[in-house]
Amino acid sequence: MRAFVPEYEMKTPENLEEVISILSKQPNEWKLFAGGTDLMVVFETGKLKQKKFLNINSIPELKSLVSNEEDILIGAGCTYSQIQNHPIIKKEFPLMVHSAKVTGAVAIQNRGTIGGNIANMSPAADTPPSLLAYDADIILLSTKGYRVLSYKYFHQAYKQADLRPNEIIMAVRLKREQNITHDYYRKVGTRSAQAISKVCMAATASVNRGKIEWVRIGLGSVGPIPLRPTKTEHFLFQKELTFDNIKEARKMLLTEITPIDDIRSEAMYRREVAGNLLTEFLESLKS
Ligand SMILES: Cc1cc2nc3c(=O)[nH]c(=O)nc-3n(C[C@H](O)[C@H](O)[C@H](O)COP(=O)(O)OP(=O)(O)OC[C@H]3O[C@@H](n4cnc5c(N)ncnc54)[C@H](O)[C@@H]3O)c2cc1C
Repeated sequence: MRAFVPEYEMKTPENLEEVISILSKQPNEWKLFAGGTDLMVVFETGKLKQKKFLNINSIPELKSLVSNEEDILIGAGCTYSQIQNHPIIKKEFPLMVHSAKVTGAVAIQNRGTIGGNIANMSPAADTPPSLLAYDADIILLSTKGYRVLSYKYFHQAYKQADLRPNEIIMAVRLKREQNITHDYYRKVGTRSAQAISKVCMAATASVNRGKIEWVRIGLGSVGPIPLRPTKTEHFLFQKELTFDNIKEARKMLLTEITPIDDIRSEAMYRREVAGNLLTEFLESLKS
């Protein structure tokens, strides 16, 4: 059943201060509305519980990308198209470009935002694996000031995260100069566009003379939250790229993921694919 539009209220604050002031005075009453590409799907089904929305889609601070020598801040309101076209992101953070390119199709990429993708907290979202592989931080803002959180600690359980009702995600911070020698991104879905991931993996590594110095792996659709398989990462630390080590890493990864059967895929298939993607990534480190 479709929603009854007059039951809903939308307010457009003039600036960020007004947004956080409203959130702080009435924390659970207002919901942020950025691109609306997740919210409108729920709205159309008549299942959108909140009735009051703050339209943050034209707040300039959320729409900007700011860089200095050390890092780049991607405003939470930046769209996938902005991300794909930014020269520093294109050059230094190809996994962000890759994940933006496989999110929905062009209309969604022009409208959907990175902040919305994070805050929607879907375990199948496509940018979280890249953010995990780059060890991104997120900057949260409330009337009490800024809070910087390592993104790997943001998601806590299915659709639960360290995001307080009076806070807004302000930006994503990516550190430059990470000494990455190899990167990898694969989204496995039913089609190459407009498909939600069955399994998604992003990874970065530093490899020196055939030996792994470190790896970071971000996975989507293989558990209740986007996750980093830290046991597998620790196992691979300072390891040679031998057949046995790759085999052992694959075995270990399968102990760290808990995929489910759902309308898009089956747990058994997801396990097999996650193992295959890790193997493909580790094999790619040999060249
Ligand atoms: C046809 C279609 C295809 C899609 N394909 C993909 C896909 O391939 N991969 C994928 O990952 N997603 C996909 N999506 C989902 C969606 O487009 C993305 O998650 C998008 O990034 C959501 O951003 P938005 O700005 O539209 O969020 P909204 O719908 O505006 O908001 C989503 C949630 O985030 C909250 N929110 C938004 N901004 C902030 C903020 N700054 N701080 C705190 N909370 C905030 C909102 O309150 C809401 O709870 C698809 C959606 C559609 C309709």
